[in-house]
Amino acid sequence: MKQRIDIPMSSPDISDKERQAVISVLQTPYLSMGEEIEAFEKEFRTYTGSRNAIAVSSGTAGLHLCIRAAKVSRDDIVITTPFSFVASTNVILYENAVPIYVDIESKTGNMDMDLVEEILKDYSNLGYIPDRWFPRKGWSKKKKIRAILVVDVFGQPADYDRLKNITQNTGIKIIEDSCESLGAEYRNKKAGTLGDFGVFGFYPNKQITTGEGGVIVTNDEESASLMIALRNQGRAAGDMWLNHKYLGYNYRLDEMSAALGRVQVARLNELLEKRERAANWYNQRLSEIKGVEIPFLAPTTTRTSWFVYVIRLGGELNRARISKELGKRGIPSRPYFIPIHLQPYMVEKFGYKPGDFPITEDIGNRSLALPFSSTMEEKQVEYVCSILREIIK
Ligand SMILES: *Cc1c(COP(=O)(O)O)cnc(C)c1O
Repeated sequence: MKQRIDIPMSSPDISDKERQAVISVLQTPYLSMGEEIEAFEKEFRTYTGSRNAIAVSSGTAGLHLCIRAAKVSRDDIVITTPFSFVASTNVILYENAVPIYVDIESKTGNMDMDLVEEILKDYSNLGYIPDRWFPRKGWSKKKKIRAILVVDVFGQPADYDRLKNITQNTGIKIIEDSCESLGAEYRNKKAGTLGDFGVFGFYPNKQITTGEGGVIVTNDEESASLMIALRNQGRAAGDMWLNHKYLGYNYRLDEMSAALGRVQVARLNELLEKRERAANWYNQRLSEIKGVEIPFLAPTTTRTSWFVYVIRLGGELNRARISKELGKRGIPSRPYFIPIHLQPYMVEKFGYKPGDFPITEDIGNRSLALPFSSTMEEKQVEYVCSILREIIK
């Protein structure tokens, strides 16, 4: 048997430059609301071309502020996807609004825009959304569709041209959850800039990290001012210290995190290239294994930003067994994603059942994320693939 190697599921890619940048901040008295955050935001404006970039304490905080800026409130409707990390649904629930799910397209795992179109057609023909689109329980009134929260799953942007076409002149805001897609491009346009608001996340397994953190980008000036106020306990621009115009939050990012993030942004291309190289090592080795499907890249994705490396197993393969066997050889793996509608709190609140979103569930049941990061070496990928080959045989 092959010598066991222990491989981390993911790993941040931190150099001496990042360490030095954080130490430099610690040598000043400015640990929050200083120059680093402003410079970090400016770099995001430059990189994305968006007029506003607002740094926040997490991707989730960023999405929540977008929901507030889109004026989503009690009983309002937000169309979104069950195939995501829970944050994208939770921010809708924080405002007591009702998420309406649509299933995904099986190839990319992104929202099926045909279904979004169907809902909007029903809405415009009838003036309301028929019950069949709603969850079984957990809501009372049918109010307005305020927003569509789209997730760029595993680093690939959804089909925004199609979505914009469908939502034209409806006033519905498009929130792009680009927490997994920093650096990706859709028809040569940068992820994060494809809707009214885009949100990036910087948890340590993302393409770049600040420890915890996120950035919102938008061209909507009015919303940007509101989000800047809400990030800082509802204090509007020009307000005096301890004056609070709105009910806000402490969603600020600190200076150490911003300084770390600035070095990571400067290294973004290097980090993306290293991730792509690792993905290619996997692709080469896994494409010949029977029963293993490698990630699909949509033709609209003109630049891929690899967030995770997720394979799909053929129906005859037992994922739990494979994952367990991998684990015994030092290789962690994760089912990615477990559908949100089947999470216990969602079943309790909305009465969802298995079978409600069959494509999401099928992909969710067959997907397995393998260890992946920009720091991965070819011999580690080789090890993972050879063990996987052995287990499947
Ligand atoms: C990572 C991620 C987020 C944000 O997560 P935070 O940990 O709050 O930064 C949001 N949505 C998706 C799809 C994500 O993968």
